Amino acid sequence: MSRIPVAILGATGAVGQRFVQLLADHPWFEIAALAASERSAGRAFREVAKWVIPGDPPPGLGEMPVQPLEPDLPARLVFSALPGNVAAEVEPVFARAGYAVCSNASAYRQAPDVPLIIPELNADHVGMIPDQRASQGWPGLIVTSPNCTTTGICIPLKALDEAFGARQVAAVSMQAISGAGYPGVPSLDILGNVIPYIGGEEEKIEEETRLLLGRMQGGRRVKAEVVISAQANRVPVLDGHTVCLSVGFESQPTVEEAVAALAGFRGPEVVRGLPSAPERPILVRAEPDRPQPRRDRDAGRGMAVTVGRVRRCPLLHLRLVSVSHNTVRGAAGGSILNAELLVASGYVGESGSR
Ligand code: NAP
Repeated sequence: MSRIPVAILGATGAVGQRFVQLLADHPWFEIAALAASERSAGRAFREVAKWVIPGDPPPGLGEMPVQPLEPDLPARLVFSALPGNVAAEVEPVFARAGYAVCSNASAYRQAPDVPLIIPELNADHVGMIPDQRASQGWPGLIVTSPNCTTTGICIPLKALDEAFGARQVAAVSMQAISGAGYPGVPSLDILGNVIPYIGGEEEKIEEETRLLLGRMQGGRRVKAEVVISAQANRVPVLDGHTVCLSVGFESQPTVEEAVAALAGFRGPEVVRGLPSAPERPILVRAEPDRPQPRRDRDAGRGMAVTVGRVRRCPLLHLRLVSVSHNTVRGAAGGSILNAELLVASGYVGESGSR
């Protein structure tokens, strides 16, 4: 099979660079264009992207010229790693021009006709695409992936919700500085410190969780009724978000039952063979001092969520800790998995789209 040409919008940023790294050897996709702001357009990628992840840009891509954000890129699918306000303007322009847009930005996550997807949780939400195309008149489409912290919360929560019905969730996050992009949080603010505020983050976690755990009914998405209280903190960790969770259930599980539900979670059949899908979406650690971001964020090539410290909670029923890689599973890797799901579901390259 010849590889599908793809472009990365916002390729020079922290998430854009992860896309470049993860797509360089992808079996289905081939990077055909890199795009960013007018500041970078026309210059070699190596020159304008200050490489913030380990290693060097993949061979050949460093010399690729960065293009402006115009919808004439030689691609059928575009990955968006743009700031929310830029994505709000640019993503519909690409969808209208026939591109399948897989977005990391928050701009359209709450839009009623745009699916917000983690494939293992709600692959069936791609069923919203025909209505999206009909209502917007787009030959292309937009699908979004969630906020990075929401991802690390919702994957284990889905496994528990499916088995025992999650009703209340308290989530306290410790979020890595790469989650703020580059140059991100000033070193004088974050070194030796904790910042108990990340603008808009708690609202995103609460709203997106209800969408992701929601169900499709009569072709429409119905939000889950789970009540969630989030507290978001920035901590001096480079990569990997940690979240402490307390969960109350409709049917209270034992610790052993909860561990079995988490470890046994696989997601739907359609997702299991996708190139970026981890063999096991959730890894359960038994050690009392795991998971930790430095040791566990790369599990399953950065696509697995590691949980541990599963134990009883005196306020709600159960407590646990989750660690996930914010720029892999929580951003570029999650979005690439969405794109693979679109291809497997026949939404890329049909007539009318690119
Ligand atoms: P970033 O490091 O600040 O990168 C932003 C990118 O957007 C750069 O390529 C930049 O290009 C481009 N850009 C900025 N202003 C622009 C403009 N006015 N017009 C056109 N292009 C412009 O940010 P990031 O952390 O990679 O985040 C990108 C998106 O992913 C955001 O929406 C963020 O919320 C979301 N996200 C981030 C994470 C994470 O862990 N970091 C996780 C999930 C989702 P230039 O280099 O040319 O300026």
